[in-house]
Amino acid sequence: MNTRILEINKENPQEEKLIEAGVTIRNGGLVAFPTETVYGIGANALDEKAVSGIFKAKGRPSDNPLILHIACIQQLKEITTNITKDAYKAIEEFWPGPLTLILKKSDIVPEITTAGLDTVAIRMPEHNIALEIIKKSGVPIAAPSANISGKPSPTTYDHVKEDLYGKVDVIVNGGDSGIGLESTVLDLTTDIPTILRPGGVTRDDLLEIFPKVNIDPVLIGAKTIPKSPGQKYKHYSPKAEVYVIEGILEDIPKVIIKLYEEYEAEGYKVGIMSTKQTEKYYQGKFTINVGNRSNPATIASNLFRVLREFDKRNADIILAESIDKSGIGVAIMNRLSKSAGGRTIIAKED
Ligand code: AMP
Ligand code: MG
Repeated sequence: MNTRILEINKENPQEEKLIEAGVTIRNGGLVAFPTETVYGIGANALDEKAVSGIFKAKGRPSDNPLILHIACIQQLKEITTNITKDAYKAIEEFWPGPLTLILKKSDIVPEITTAGLDTVAIRMPEHNIALEIIKKSGVPIAAPSANISGKPSPTTYDHVKEDLYGKVDVIVNGGDSGIGLESTVLDLTTDIPTILRPGGVTRDDLLEIFPKVNIDPVLIGAKTIPKSPGQKYKHYSPKAEVYVIEGILEDIPKVIIKLYEEYEAEGYKVGIMSTKQTEKYYQGKFTINVGNRSNPATIASNLFRVLREFDKRNADIILAESIDKSGIGVAIMNRLSKSAGGRTIIAKED
């Protein structure tokens, strides 16, 4: 497939390019575009054939439903049957923004889009290029992350090009994604709102408007079936094997250095994912600094880019420091442990 690249200026988007992207989607094509979370691969969510193109291009399992991206409340009314009071509360506070709501779907949403579920995931992105493309297309846009399934999500145009050039009709180059992690998924079909995937909107943010917010037991290690089908897949994985080193911050660098030397002696190329506070301990070693522990948003925004960077530099093994699991740290550690396929080492100095 011929892929057209559209450079769109975020500050001053060119109308004719937005229209081209929107019309391509309306006509059944695939368009990758930036959002504030990560880049998405978009298709008309109401067009079965177009949606099947997303699954094909990404190699995404067909039982993993898609998020519909909308630009106005009228679209929400068309794709759901029951917009609950809680939904209006969440929308008022967090839309546009990185919060996806699960609601009952209407008949116009085809089964392929929701992987046969009677619910639908919906979000209004806070990104002018994304919103304009949705408006110009005139349809809700199904848009999972614009990467090959299983790889780290794309936060830059280069990542999308690496994964999807030749597999989509258009790639919009509209600069880097800001947040760098996917949206929070919140189920509003249960009595108490339930987080199915942690993301940019934290549990504490949600507790500002809801008296109670549950967390899907799968996210805290229960071996039940996840309500969000995507949570059961290996995800966000670079080619290198990732190990997450947990424990108190004082011990982590010592343990990482020991492991580094052991693996290196066995002939592996080892990389360390450090932070601003700890990189000084790893002088002379292959290290990439993922961000500042005092400002975890920087870590969120760099994480996927850094994982891809280790691949580019041919790491066999990545030793990643864990970070504090509060606020956005919950989402960061969710993505990092998935990229490690659960491989965790508890740092304890002996
Ligand atoms: P992605 O598009 O790759 O960011 O993934 C979307 C996430 O939302 C996946 O974890 C899906 O399983 C989840 N999701 C989408 N639709 C639903 C739904 N109707 N019910 C529960 N989870 C959903
Ligand atoms: Mg994804």
